[in-house]
Amino acid sequence: MLACDTCDAWVQFLQYAQARTSATAFGNWLAPIVVLESSADEIRLEVPNVFVQEYLMTNYKKDLCAFLPVTAEGEPAVKFVVSSLRKSVDIQPIPVPAKETEGVIPHPNLPKLNPNYRFDTFIEGPTNQFVKSAAMGVAARPGQSYNPLFIHGGVGLGKTHILHSIGQHIGATHKKLRVQCITTEAFINELVDSLRTKSVDRMKRFYRADVDVLLVDDFQFLQNRLNFEEELCNTFETLINQNKQIVVTSDKPPSQLKLSERLIARMEWGLVAHVGVPELETRVAILQHKAQQKGLDIPHNVAFFIAEHVHNNIRQLEGAVNRLSAYCRLMDLTITEELVEKTLKEMIHQHPTSKVTVDQILKGVAAVFQVRVTEIKGTARTKEIALSRQVAMYLAWKWINESLQMLGASFGKTHSTVLHACKAIEKRMAEDEVLRRQIQMVERSITAA
Ligand code: ADP
Ligand code: MG
Repeated sequence: MLACDTCDAWVQFLQYAQARTSATAFGNWLAPIVVLESSADEIRLEVPNVFVQEYLMTNYKKDLCAFLPVTAEGEPAVKFVVSSLRKSVDIQPIPVPAKETEGVIPHPNLPKLNPNYRFDTFIEGPTNQFVKSAAMGVAARPGQSYNPLFIHGGVGLGKTHILHSIGQHIGATHKKLRVQCITTEAFINELVDSLRTKSVDRMKRFYRADVDVLLVDDFQFLQNRLNFEEELCNTFETLINQNKQIVVTSDKPPSQLKLSERLIARMEWGLVAHVGVPELETRVAILQHKAQQKGLDIPHNVAFFIAEHVHNNIRQLEGAVNRLSAYCRLMDLTITEELVEKTLKEMIHQHPTSKVTVDQILKGVAAVFQVRVTEIKGTARTKEIALSRQVAMYLAWKWINESLQMLGASFGKTHSTVLHACKAIEKRMAEDEVLRRQIQMVERSITAA
């Protein structure tokens, strides 16, 4: 039986902690803790994993001592039990249920809207203000302002975040509207599947009659997919003609996508909005926001230091916060610039400002495809080597802003060989999941610097 005084003391401690931390940190770290047993001189707590235990002891040891019984050594008299793996899965934050999908045929490949990707968690600054207000305008009056809204910008700058924010907002404010959020890749896969199972009509009907708001992520994947391009274009036209809202994201503006003129014109019909790399002040604000979400208190000078050094994309900034918070939690350290420099060494010192180079690409491809850099640069035509060579050319073309001639020269090839390689790889990627993943791995390795 629980002895109520210690138990009450725990409740008081929770109230105390809640008032001093962000709601997210509280929800993630403290709320999942369960009191198993308590007596006048000890309390047994069940934690979902050891990190929660570390977090509690690192951040609240003194406070626990103040609220709870204390051992002879001056430690809080707390015993921890780490709950089973199944339980720890149960207490993961529950995703917001998609309300307006009632009656809509469930589509297995669709990504759910990420509940953390909301307008109120999207920090704005001069480089993304425009796109945010355009997105908010569309979310407030779907189908009545800009249609389609085309959002483009580099990797990790918040395009998906904004897209999902639109979905969340419409879901909350226009409950009757059926929102469909899909990646271009998933759309293509779905179309391929329905062609195979001869259910294309059903799919067409679904997109044209059962969807009020269509959110399409990563439109660049449609390039060189001629058959699918037409299908998507027809769907878009049907929806737009019915004043149904479409929002598209892509890594390039419509005019730079290798798509049909008809589709490009369609995309440019509404509003094309660019999301840029946030400047220092905004990066600091984003970083502090992310840190706060994790319950990590980063001093202002340290936040500036990180934001100055990690500037390529926001995902990297988040990675920095994650590493730092894990390190501090485990080592029980307070954050200083020196500590940051130490923990984020690779992030900060590996070419912080440099762009991707052919050498980086060659190394990345060699590692993932298990061939030698010299083989990629050589002339051997065995299947593996030829493929990795084409992948390297494709990635150089994608990541390095140079002419095909220049890129060709770095591989000792002509521009038409590079072009041929790019087309071949894009075509294969569309059909070959393994290759797509391998290429993603190389990309991660070259952009993580
Ligand atoms: P993209 O789709 O452009 O590659 P994402 O939308 O996936 O980028 O964003 C990458 C990460 O950075 C996400 O976790 C997102 O929440 C975060 N992010 C990007 N921009 C912002 C911002 N302005 N405010 C808060 N978080 C941001
Ligand atoms: Mg994205």
